[in-house]
Amino acid sequence: MKQSPIVTHPPLPNNYAPEFLVLDRGEGVYLTDTAGKSYLDFGSGIAVNSLGYGREDLAETGYRQMQKLIHSSNIYTTEPTLSLAKRMTKMGAFAAVQFGNSGSEANEAAIKYARLYALRTRGAGHFKILSLENGFHGRTMGALSCTPTPKYQEPFTPLVPGMSSITFNDVKRLETVLDGSFACVIVEVIQGEGGLRVMTPEFARALGTLTREYDVLLTADEIQTGLGRTGYAFASEIVGLKPDIITLSKPLAGGLPLSATLIPKKVNDLLHIGEHGTTFGGGPVTTAVAGKVLDTLLDPSFLASVREKGEFLKEKLTELKEVNPRISELRGAGLLQGLVLDLPAEHEADTMKSILTKSREKGLLVLRSGSNVIRIAPPLIIDNGEIEKGIIILSSVLEEVTKEK
Ligand code: PLP
Repeated sequence: MKQSPIVTHPPLPNNYAPEFLVLDRGEGVYLTDTAGKSYLDFGSGIAVNSLGYGREDLAETGYRQMQKLIHSSNIYTTEPTLSLAKRMTKMGAFAAVQFGNSGSEANEAAIKYARLYALRTRGAGHFKILSLENGFHGRTMGALSCTPTPKYQEPFTPLVPGMSSITFNDVKRLETVLDGSFACVIVEVIQGEGGLRVMTPEFARALGTLTREYDVLLTADEIQTGLGRTGYAFASEIVGLKPDIITLSKPLAGGLPLSATLIPKKVNDLLHIGEHGTTFGGGPVTTAVAGKVLDTLLDPSFLASVREKGEFLKEKLTELKEVNPRISELRGAGLLQGLVLDLPAEHEADTMKSILTKSREKGLLVLRSGSNVIRIAPPLIIDNGEIEKGIIILSSVLEEVTKEK
């Protein structure tokens, strides 16, 4: 077996792990490192590379647009930007798309628009933002302030004021806490980073009813779950959530940085020139590539194939759970699923690290979510044979590692 090229302590900040695997290229659902060892990818660069690797169509689209025009600024616009914006507004009851460069930025825009809407419809003092425990909305100060996990927030206080959070799926608490002093509720239908819990339809219904009652804007952060990851354009569809604003990013431009905040007319009508903006967001290259990406991701037969593969993955994970008592629960939907491991607290961090490392050594790249969930988020082009192959590797690693503890 080839040795993985691991670089330790490169001049990247210490907020990253001290060791990196050095990747070189990819093809289909496989990545290859600089020593030529290949890996089946169950992580997609954290739910980004939905169309897999080595895509000539995306490369060609990006190359052609780069030859024509790379950047225009938001003083002017371009055909790829216009056509993507038009297409995305038709994905629901949206009037406009604020493009950006990252998921955090998309959520910053959502928070700002919600505050602006509350101010202009109800006057000052209705600026609070409600989020859900274990939610993840990004690392910039606004997005971080509604990411209520102490390890992310504590070193950076004071945070943006007016943020509070309640337990995921807690309808009673939502009914008690929410009122007209809030500008926005921001939620994930499946908590991608925070443990893959899935929203209940009851909670989705309560969110809809209460936010409408107080005219509080409901924002669905579909940065990880959107654009086909669960077999639907939006995971909101699975639980009947009807958001006012949707934020998207990860898979949107096939791995290039692009985000979108989809806003309704009632918000757009209140915005004034110069109140928000971005230098690079929605430039012609990323939007041209995104157009190509959406041609595939939103094709109904492609979405149906993701749902079918999601079912197959679920069957395989159920089989794993039946034979390994350390697996306490399955979570997620479509091609964003995970195994919750029941591990002694003192071994949890080491065991999880060991599972990821041993999988990598055996040629499988897999992710963690929360502190004890193995997250599986492969490129959506994966086939059942490749899913089975990855599960066999994962199964042998789990057996080995959980037996040791
Ligand atoms: N929202 C969700 C649901 C995410 O999963 C992430 C990133 O993992 C973000 C927001 C932040 O996105 P970014 O890292 O691009 O700022």
